[in-house]
Amino acid sequence: MSDRRVLVTGGAGFIGSHLCERLLGEGADVLCVDNFFTGRKRNVAHLLNHPGFELMRHDVTFPLYVEVDEIYNLACPASPIHYQHDPVQTTKTSVHGAINMLGLAKRLGAKILQASTSEVYGDPDVHPQQESYWGNVNPIGFRSCYDEGKRCAETLFFDYHRQHKLRIKVARIFNTYGPHMHPNDGRVVSNFIVQALTGQPVTIYGDGQQTRSFCYVDDLVRGLIALMETDDSVTGPVNLGNPGEFTMIELAEAVLRLTGSKSELVRQPLPPDDPRQRQPDITRAREWLGWEPRIPLEEGLKSTIAYFDALVR
Ligand code: NAD
Ligand code: UDP
Ligand code: UDP
Repeated sequence: MSDRRVLVTGGAGFIGSHLCERLLGEGADVLCVDNFFTGRKRNVAHLLNHPGFELMRHDVTFPLYVEVDEIYNLACPASPIHYQHDPVQTTKTSVHGAINMLGLAKRLGAKILQASTSEVYGDPDVHPQQESYWGNVNPIGFRSCYDEGKRCAETLFFDYHRQHKLRIKVARIFNTYGPHMHPNDGRVVSNFIVQALTGQPVTIYGDGQQTRSFCYVDDLVRGLIALMETDDSVTGPVNLGNPGEFTMIELAEAVLRLTGSKSELVRQPLPPDDPRQRQPDITRAREWLGWEPRIPLEEGLKSTIAYFDALVR
């Protein structure tokens, strides 16, 4: 048994499964807690025989009594299709989930990291986004259950820090991609790759000129761990993402080139409240964590395409 016991909520999801694997690789014991709403056992199947790994089915909106030293709170559906499927549950997961995990951290004196999101900036009118920007978020729209839930979770983290002296870390994660993404979750990278590999039309929402900045999952996980390991004075929030910014048309063209697909591009309506542009300012992460992403889009897309190729063919 290791002397470092780490809880990862949402550990059977896309990012969580990579995080569990990396923590085990560093010699930690990992307790993965997940209700399998969007996560899947197959994402952690390769870890089940590891003596330091434990998988527990549990919904974080209910209290959790376990003994750990560190908590990574990732539980929350992240793709618009999934978080809009049951928006009330999405807000409960962010808010009640944060309260329960903060209560757990308080009882144990454990360090706790929140997986927050660039969505706290909403449809930003400051570009690129720095952590000091308060955001431009619609409180009553289709994305609000996710955006406002995550904003409230940040508030809870900082209030537990001020009121109960909890050791907190808040990461604002920007669009992340890689193996273990859910093939049907509607996010742009998985959609384009699956469409290209199966010869279906590649769906561009709106004019395709909106931008996103895509971070490969290995880089992101390294950043989360670096943030957790900072000294107690560092609470964040810290942006974690890759500043390389692309339009959706550019992304589609890169995917078509790398897959050698002949799929055509088709236009579909832009979903409501879809942000026009998004790019992290990662000055803070560079200075505070000594972190920056290393994997360029093309290289990360190749590994992701290989993963989906094995899955969908
Ligand atoms: P994901 O949907 O693959 O993973 C989320 C995991 O949480 C899933 O395994 C799901 O089953 C689990 N979960 C959901 N509700 C739960 C509940 N009530 N109790 C227990 N488990 C629950 O998404 P992901 O992309 O891996 O995202 C992980 C975290 O990172 C999320 O908090 C998300 O908001 C955040 N994030 C992700 C991105 C991204 O681009 N992927 C960007 C910003 C923030
Ligand atoms: N909680 C938990 N595990 C623990 C301790 C607390 O899940 O080990 C939950 C509990 O349900 C509580 C919440 O965390 O409602 C907030 O805890 P806190 O101590 O802040 O508040 P209180 O117990 O006073 O409501
Ligand atoms: N998008 C697209 N085609 C798709 C899926 C998404 O053009 O098949 C667009 C979407 O409108 C958004 C961008 O890609 O502008 C990123 O969408 P995603 O859902 O991946 O992430 P988020 O909007 O949460 O950043």
